[in-house]
Amino acid sequence: MLDTAPIRTDWTREEAEAIYNQPFMDLLFEAHSVHRSHYDPNQVQMSKLLSIKTGGCAEDCAYCSQSARNGATLSAAKLIEVEKVLSEARRAKEAGATRYCMGAAWRSPKDRDMPALEAMIHGVKELGMETCMTLGMLDDNQVFRLRDAGLDYYNHNIDTSERYYKEIITTRTFADRIETLNRVRESGMKVCAGGIVGMGEQQLDRIDMLLALATLEEHPDSVPVNMLIPIENTPLANVDKLDPIEFVRTIALARILMPKSHVRLSAGRTEMSDELQAMCFFAGANSIFVGDTLLTADNPEEDKDMGLFGRLGITAMEAGCDGSH
Ligand code: SF4
Repeated sequence: MLDTAPIRTDWTREEAEAIYNQPFMDLLFEAHSVHRSHYDPNQVQMSKLLSIKTGGCAEDCAYCSQSARNGATLSAAKLIEVEKVLSEARRAKEAGATRYCMGAAWRSPKDRDMPALEAMIHGVKELGMETCMTLGMLDDNQVFRLRDAGLDYYNHNIDTSERYYKEIITTRTFADRIETLNRVRESGMKVCAGGIVGMGEQQLDRIDMLLALATLEEHPDSVPVNMLIPIENTPLANVDKLDPIEFVRTIALARILMPKSHVRLSAGRTEMSDELQAMCFFAGANSIFVGDTLLTADNPEEDKDMGLFGRLGITAMEAGCDGSH
C-alpha cells in the first residue's frame, strides 16, 4: 500500500517522544508499516566509504581517532592520489556498491585541494556510480564547485542533539553544521546527515537529534545512524554501551519521522548480531556501508553481509534507483 500522506517537517518533540517510547512491538509495527508504504522492504542500498585523507584533523570530535587533539590520533596523511581513489572505486563497484563515499579528515577543504576533489568526482561518476563526499564545512564557492563537478551527495552529520553537542565537539557549533547543510541543500545537491548514538547521551538527545533533521526545510536524502565504536584513548573510550533496543528504537523513529529518507545502518555493525541488524532492517534501515573498513573503523566483510542478505532475502538496490515506490 502506497502512502500518499504529505511528508511532514513540523514534528514536535511531544510527538517524537510518544513515538519513541510506545511499546516496542507497536513501534516496530508502525515503523515497518511506514517503511513498506515507501520502500521495498527487501532492498537495501549499498555504499562504499573510502578515507581520502586520514588523520591530523583540527577538530576535536570526542569519538574520533583522526582528531589531532585526541590521544588516539592516527598519523596525518596527505590527500590520496586520484588514480588510487578510482581503482578502489572500480573494486567497490565490482563488489556491488552503487554509491562511492569519499571522506577527508578536515575542518574544511582548502582551495588547493579542489581540483583533485573535482577529478575524483568526475572519475567515479564515469564508472556509473553515485558520488558522495564528506569534507567538513563548506563555503558557497566550494559547494558550487563540488556540485558543478557532479557530486550527488554531501555528507555532514550533526552528530547528536544541540544540547549534548558541546560535550562532544567544541571547535565548531551545531549552528555551523546546520549552515553547511542548508548551503548544500540550496545548491541542489542531495544531503546526507545523521549522527552517532551510544556516546553517553540521554534518550532525549537521540530523539532531539532526529527531530533536528526531521524539521529541516527538507529531510536529508540519507540519514546515517551510527553506533559509537569506542576507540582507545579518545574521550569516549570508556563510555557505557547503549542498550541495543534503544538503538532499534532510534532507527524506527528515524524511519517514521523521515519516511522517504534512506536510513543507513552505519558504523558499529561489527558489534551487532545478525539478529539485531535484521531487526534494524525491519524497523526501516535500508542502506549500509559495505567493505571491511569505514573511514578508519572496522566493518563486516562483504561475504558476511552477502551471507546475511541471502538468509534474509534482501537484495541490493540498483545504482540511480532510490528503491522507493
Ligand atoms: S569526525 Fe571528522 S571533523 Fe571530527 S575530528 Fe574526526 S575527522 Fe575531524
